[in-house]
Amino acid sequence: MTNPMYDRLFGRHTGKETPFLRQADGAILTYDAFLRQAARFAHVLVDAGLQPGDRLAAQIEKSPEALALYAACVQAGVIFLPLNTAYTAGEMSYFIENSGAACVVCDPARSATLEPLAAGLGANVETLSGEGTGTLMNKAASKPFTFGTVARSGEDLAALLYTSGTTGRSKGAMLTQNNLLSNAQTLVDHWRFTANDVLVHALPIFHTHGLFVATNVMLLAGGAMIFLPKFDTDAVIGALADATSMMGVPTFYTRLLDDDRFTGELTRHMRLFVSGSAPLLAESHRQFERRTGHRILERYGMTETNMNTSNPYEGERRAGTVGFPLPGVDLKVTNAETGDMVPEGEVGQIEVRGPNVFKGYWRMPEKTAEELRGDGFFITGDLGRIDADGYVHIVGRNKDLIISGGYNIYPKEIELILDEQPGVVESAVIGVPHPDFGETVVGLLVAKPGEAPDLDSVLAKTAASLAKFKLPKKLIVVDALPRNTMGKVQKNILRATYAGLFT
Ligand code: ATP
Ligand code: MG
Repeated sequence: MTNPMYDRLFGRHTGKETPFLRQADGAILTYDAFLRQAARFAHVLVDAGLQPGDRLAAQIEKSPEALALYAACVQAGVIFLPLNTAYTAGEMSYFIENSGAACVVCDPARSATLEPLAAGLGANVETLSGEGTGTLMNKAASKPFTFGTVARSGEDLAALLYTSGTTGRSKGAMLTQNNLLSNAQTLVDHWRFTANDVLVHALPIFHTHGLFVATNVMLLAGGAMIFLPKFDTDAVIGALADATSMMGVPTFYTRLLDDDRFTGELTRHMRLFVSGSAPLLAESHRQFERRTGHRILERYGMTETNMNTSNPYEGERRAGTVGFPLPGVDLKVTNAETGDMVPEGEVGQIEVRGPNVFKGYWRMPEKTAEELRGDGFFITGDLGRIDADGYVHIVGRNKDLIISGGYNIYPKEIELILDEQPGVVESAVIGVPHPDFGETVVGLLVAKPGEAPDLDSVLAKTAASLAKFKLPKKLIVVDALPRNTMGKVQKNILRATYAGLFT
């Protein structure tokens, strides 16, 4: 009897007394202790009536026990469904109903709110706090430390992971054991992870980046993680001394660069810094190299596919690009109307195919048919181009494309110019309704601390590089861009805020 994902990520570490997780207070959890906890949880799940293929929705704080619950689901053949801790009761009811979860694990502080709601949808509730207390732990305390792993095949679903909801309602991506395992193996090889690695883990574990990229890679490599509850500059700076590598969203790196304690000296022994989930500004990439001598390795992926492209480990890591398709991943740039490949260097929609690509959206056959082609290519919803050297550039999202007076305008092209202007840290360009043009361009600028960009001169510089129809009709200085927990700019919020500018 086998269960490829359990066997390769978890089971193979049985009995190992080497560290798996080191917490902020220095406490170390060995691989063996972790697996014993997972086995106990698996018994609780089975006792609660969960069958292989049932969904377990977990809205819990990041903790070693939360990861052990993930391992327990894999071992018991239960489909793991982690959810953002920020979701409200109303949002939770959508996820529980949409997924048909049989069990919801939440923080004890939320159980009074979620219990009636879950009961109405036919789900049981168990609790688990960030400190590892709650009903799940209580029930686990009397259970054996070993559990008979439930047989699964690589084609069975291991997780139902909802997309971040940046462009609309979150969709449940059905991920098989093979989807997750194949990508983890590719990343271990590509990024050269080994059992000697120690990764700074400050990402949330309800998202693909922290759960499947960071955690699965470290489990497969057999290395250790410094497991921080969230990103905190002091804690991360403190953790770097014992680490070899770090994975983060761009805001982690900009926050570190804002701190004078973050120096070349502090990072000299580090092997690798990886960035993803949102675009890393080319300027941040350069500033990071000037400060530390390291070039951040930027990669590109999404909930539905795990990782698709990566800058090279050896070879040039190019700022502002997401590198090359990973081994085994086919990537093409196509015309949205015809589906044909666009000529080299031109912008189009990014499509990917490979063992990493999901099986479809849970209970959304129409959405699946729209985005997943019969030949296996998934239409990612991102726009990009491949340059003459083969590097992939992400230009933005299809849904953020601005159509003004019949012309297509790619916000990124304008953002890149705005970002370079004196006094500007970063920018976001959006389309807003306009009576004559249908949509028109608005640029939001974040100023450098204590500086006020001269908007007329910014506009004049922009006009020198761009066709007239692309020029922002209005530039507005804002304190900050709205971002979600993964550091993604929420352009839908900006569009709603400025919808009435011209109408
Ligand atoms: P939804 O699909 O619900 O609108 P989402 O696409 O933000 O939400 P995720 O799957 O978390 O949900 O994010 C994947 C997206 O993140 C990609 O499609 C891409 O737009 C963006 N992304 C990831 N990595 C990068 C990167 N390195 N550079 C630019 N964009 C990136
Ligand atoms: Mg998406």
